[in-house]
Amino acid sequence: MNTLPGKKPEQSALIRTITRLMPSNCLLCDDQVEWQHGLCKECWGTLPRNTTPCRVCALPLTGGRLCGACQTHPSALDKVVAPMIYRQPVDRIVCELKYRERLSWARTAAELIVEIIRQRDEAMPDFLVPVPMTLRAVRRRGFNQSAYIARLVGRRLRIKTRGGIIVKHRETERQSNLSYRERQSNLRGAFEVLKRPVGQSIVLIDDVVTTGSTANELARVLKKAGAAEVSAWAFARTPDKI
Ligand SMILES: [Zn+2]
Ligand SMILES: [Zn+2]
Repeated sequence: MNTLPGKKPEQSALIRTITRLMPSNCLLCDDQVEWQHGLCKECWGTLPRNTTPCRVCALPLTGGRLCGACQTHPSALDKVVAPMIYRQPVDRIVCELKYRERLSWARTAAELIVEIIRQRDEAMPDFLVPVPMTLRAVRRRGFNQSAYIARLVGRRLRIKTRGGIIVKHRETERQSNLSYRERQSNLRGAFEVLKRPVGQSIVLIDDVVTTGSTANELARVLKKAGAAEVSAWAFARTPDKI
């Protein structure tokens, strides 16, 4: 234990206890007291909610129920649910979670997913699968943020998480820089199902659904291996143009 010279260890323990009992500050502004899921009331009110999404891919829309892409390229995914639009301050939350290891944001993301799933009374799947990263990418970052979110969502909704049924073997290019066809060939062969999910319903968990191509490819591969239904729940969905 690191204590200042001459300071008794019991004092540090006492300070730690007091700190734990004190209300936490908002993770976003670090100014106001936390109100809900890590955020103060004011920051909570600024969250960009995805209120009128495409009913298949959750793309934020201003009107209409199905986006143009879903009309022209039917998805292997049954549905995407994403409570937030990937805009300020959600982009900051995701970046801090992924690149600054601010893992408390995984709890905020999970709570917001749980909230919308309950509000909409979505069907519970047989199990959750976090969108996999390659072993190399996990080693580089130290963790898979989607696995954290999945575990928290699973705990709250009492759904098992089975991350080991599908693995990612190779790195893929950033999907957002590619055309629809390029995205498809970029992802072909990237994932391998290790345990066939015959007749089961699966929900993929991700932090952000950008183009939807990764989740779509995972759904395609899992359905080919026997899955009955594959949907995705993500914290946020990117709008058409950022
Ligand atoms: Zn705040
Ligand atoms: Zn759509």
